[in-house]
Amino acid sequence: MIMDQSVIQLLSDRVLDLQESATIKMSQMARDLREQGHNVISLSLGEPDFDTPDHIKEAAKKALDDGYTKYTPVPGLMEFRQAISRKFKRENELDYAPSQIVVSNGAKQSIANLSLSLLNPGDEVIIFAPYWVSYFEIVRLAGGVPVILSAGIDQDFKVLPEQLKGAITDKTKLVLFSSPCNPSGSVYSKEELFALADELEAHEQIHVLSDEIYEHINFSGKHASIGAHPGIKDRVVTINGMSKGFSMTGWRLGYMGAPQWIADACAKIQGQFTSGATSFGQKAAAEALDGDLGPTKEMCAAFAKRRELVIDLLSEVPGVKCNKPQGAFYVFPDISAYFGKTINGFTIQNSDDFCTYLLQEAHVAVVAGSAFGADECFRLSYAASEAELRDAIGRIKKALTA
Ligand code: PMP
Ligand code: GLU
Repeated sequence: MIMDQSVIQLLSDRVLDLQESATIKMSQMARDLREQGHNVISLSLGEPDFDTPDHIKEAAKKALDDGYTKYTPVPGLMEFRQAISRKFKRENELDYAPSQIVVSNGAKQSIANLSLSLLNPGDEVIIFAPYWVSYFEIVRLAGGVPVILSAGIDQDFKVLPEQLKGAITDKTKLVLFSSPCNPSGSVYSKEELFALADELEAHEQIHVLSDEIYEHINFSGKHASIGAHPGIKDRVVTINGMSKGFSMTGWRLGYMGAPQWIADACAKIQGQFTSGATSFGQKAAAEALDGDLGPTKEMCAAFAKRRELVIDLLSEVPGVKCNKPQGAFYVFPDISAYFGKTINGFTIQNSDDFCTYLLQEAHVAVVAGSAFGADECFRLSYAASEAELRDAIGRIKKALTA
């Protein structure tokens, strides 16, 4: 559809200045191509390909039958917040009382609530790169100034304490990162997290947003939370959700544990935007947190197996440099060896060109590293069947060696 420019100008500066989510855009492009009759393999969206475990679905059905069909308190059903509080204590050594929990329509909304609650125009937010696409735009939408701290493949995509120290200014308000990381799959150990926290301890104006949504997809052993550091624990907002570990992306349930004053502010914002999250979903999610983690562990084991397969297959593609991620379900290979090259008459200057070429030539959708603040890479989600992964990487190899 061709847009009339005079109409476009009626849009707010806010939305005109906003970038579309690259992950969502790429998966839509794959869907469109498919609808045109092409055989497209989409490894673009970060979404587990498993169904929600049965016991969680059963709990939601029961909640519906029991009449959980009404508005819920804005920060969430008390029994879900109690289950989250217990989970934080039991699994993460974190002390957030139920009153310090805010349940939202996905962790994405939790991040938006926090940014809108905390940031004034000009406040600096240190974001570790590669970063998840939406961090950058949500921070900007809230008036914050993203300050990007980059870590490349040679440092396993992990930011070092001295880098963090060098980026702190009087205007720094927030530090934002995910572990396990989307897009790199890197996992920070407890020692690494605490070394970062040590750098923040003296700066009382700085808060941390620790996004732990991939907690359960961790191949390195125990998950660690920066909020357990005694020197900064009262300044850490821990975000998590049901989407990844329980394969509940469509249920739209995320949550945060936060200092009380931040939790109250986030509930105030949410009370004007969306109110409480889905009633029967929260009942089922409470059971999921308290219940059997067996299906979650099975999914994690399946991802671990696919990771081996993907790394193995990619090692046979020339010019693709891949590390061994310890979590999430992504690989983030460095493909800068292709920049400046022409293949099949198509010149590749950056990661966007690289991904456009793969979509057009191989009908494989992956996401350009530029969207994650690392133009030398691309992200491949291996939340897909082994057959699809073999087919897709075979096609990628063929297209690149043409
Ligand atoms: N954080 C990270 C790092 C993510 O990859 C995602 C992707 N879904 C989210 C937060 C948001 O998850 P949701 O809104 O589905 O809970
Ligand atoms: N977080 C997932 C991803 O990175 C889902 C899509 C999105 O919300 O951006 O692909």
